[in-house]
Amino acid sequence: MGFNVAIDGPAGAGKSTIAKRLAKELGFIYVDTGAMYRAIGLYMMNNGIDGADEEAVSSKVEDVVVSLAYEDGTQKVLLNGEDVSGLIRTEKVSAMASQTSAYRKVREHLLDLQRDMAKNNDVLMDGRDIGTTILPNADVKIYLTASVEERARRRYEEYLLKGEAADLEEIKEDIRTRDHNDMTRAVSPLKKADDAIEVDTSHMTVDEVVDHIKNLCKERM
Ligand code: C5P
Repeated sequence: MGFNVAIDGPAGAGKSTIAKRLAKELGFIYVDTGAMYRAIGLYMMNNGIDGADEEAVSSKVEDVVVSLAYEDGTQKVLLNGEDVSGLIRTEKVSAMASQTSAYRKVREHLLDLQRDMAKNNDVLMDGRDIGTTILPNADVKIYLTASVEERARRRYEEYLLKGEAADLEEIKEDIRTRDHNDMTRAVSPLKKADDAIEVDTSHMTVDEVVDHIKNLCKERM
């Protein structure tokens, strides 16, 4: 059994930025479970499946093989063997993943892959239900949050940096919708595990958050 760190929280709280940095500093593998749900969302999109149709999504998900590969410590997500890492960070895929990840069949499809990663490696795994469902015995559980305003502002700046057009109000609305979907779904909703440590990053720098969580991990290693 590896040393397992679970990081959960809503969209845009900084999970992946923090988890990537921490994994590097601790020498752990970073497992981005959101990328797996995005890969499934992308598959449904490419196959013309309506994300609102649970039955269609559930039957089609059987054809999907999601796997992970690591290149220079960076996670690549493979969809039926093809590296789709560069195709999953779009608003369309976000919206599709947010819908399809609510379905039991989709979640079950990814469960073993996620647990196996943690069984065999020291991992930092981020997602929505890692501390509650996937790794209930994780050594450290973090619930990372930030205000909707701050999360939207960060995403907005990311778009501007990439030279892409963005609308702050639209981003805020999108974040609210995804939070709502994640927190109210019947299967594995996003919520803080009882034994998770909540870290509100609204007024913290990336360095501060990384140091804080690193110290929490070191105390338990
Ligand atoms: O974290 P990220 O925004 O990339 O995740 C994409 C979508 O996948 C989220 O909106 C969420 O609905 C879903 N997700 C999930 N459980 C996880 C990780 C992501 O339901 N463990």
